[in-house]
Amino acid sequence: MNVGAVAGLRIFVTGGAGYIGSICVEELLDAGCQVTVFDNLSEGHRAAVDARAELIVGDLLDEVVLGKALAATRPDGVIHFAASALVGESMRTPEKYFRNNVVAGVNLLDAMVRIGVKRLVFSSSCATYGLPAAIPVGESNPQAPINPYGTSKLMFEQMLRWYEQAHGIISVGLRFFNVAGASIRHGEDHRIETHLIPNVLRVALGQRDHVEIFGTDYATPDGTCLRDYVHVLDVAAAHLAALTATGSGFYNLGNGAGYSVGEVITCCRRITGHPIPTVARPRREGDPACLVADSGKFKSAFGWQPLRADLAEMVASAWAWHQRQPHGYQDVFSIGSIAPGTPHRQLATTHHHESCHQTG
Ligand code: UDP
Repeated sequence: MNVGAVAGLRIFVTGGAGYIGSICVEELLDAGCQVTVFDNLSEGHRAAVDARAELIVGDLLDEVVLGKALAATRPDGVIHFAASALVGESMRTPEKYFRNNVVAGVNLLDAMVRIGVKRLVFSSSCATYGLPAAIPVGESNPQAPINPYGTSKLMFEQMLRWYEQAHGIISVGLRFFNVAGASIRHGEDHRIETHLIPNVLRVALGQRDHVEIFGTDYATPDGTCLRDYVHVLDVAAAHLAALTATGSGFYNLGNGAGYSVGEVITCCRRITGHPIPTVARPRREGDPACLVADSGKFKSAFGWQPLRADLAEMVASAWAWHQRQPHGYQDVFSIGSIAPGTPHRQLATTHHHESCHQTG
């Protein structure tokens, strides 16, 4: 994509202090955009927000704070990352997912309508497909989620069609598969870590004794789940491209290669040189056996290609980041070379709901 195409745009990024959001913000700034991050910091980190961006600490469930923030920014477009995104948790507390992913989303769309923002890029998920009928999964695969997280993302997708018809909002929904890896400055640091690669790397860092493998009896070559891992920098590049869309659409965003949990662990052993002991556990509720993307539609519409398609490159970048700051963003201020510059402006603070956590 021609990066110059987005230079000068003013972009409002919800969840921009989270893992994927913070790296997208960095790429937007490097491409010459002006960026305002809106994040309640329940999952995100102040230190994850590039010092060149404005940070507004606020909650999407607070319509007043959100409305003021959007009106003050008057953006050319919104990128909406903020969400609750843990499949297992969504099975136990669906209400949290419908509130944070659907109600908060309606608030955002309504605020956009009020001030006339016509462009949205939205983080959807492969979880909207449920148990795919065919692998790789194309966009025409029926969407039949098997967990509340996937249902909440699908509900928001379905609303977008009507907001376009009634209010002319052009939206691009990107159905993330499993986002992995790090940039030099930013990586994955969740307060409660449930994701495979960071959990495996914590064993290599000596912070955990072993990694648990959830399910070893799936109908896959080694009995563990297959997932499509896509580098977070490729995901960020896809968002820059999506900002140039001339019409609405939903697109898969993945590599097209499936790696099993067992293969991911083997790769991490190779990169870290650590034996990484494992313990077999029962299947995790809500997990499909296999999710691999056909991202041909997005590639042909936007000329996007994953440039870091190799799992080893994703793991190596994550490992480099975790080694530099083994306790995540807690370590940032003690590392002079990557410490952020001036403190961010804080326009509003409100009660914190749990949100702003992104994954596939
Ligand atoms: N997984 C695992 N052990 C862990 C974390 C995850 O076996 O400590 C498995 C999980 O059951 C799934 C795959 O790894 O099959 C990817 O899970 P993750 O939570 O990273 O992403 P998801 O696919 O749920 O978005």
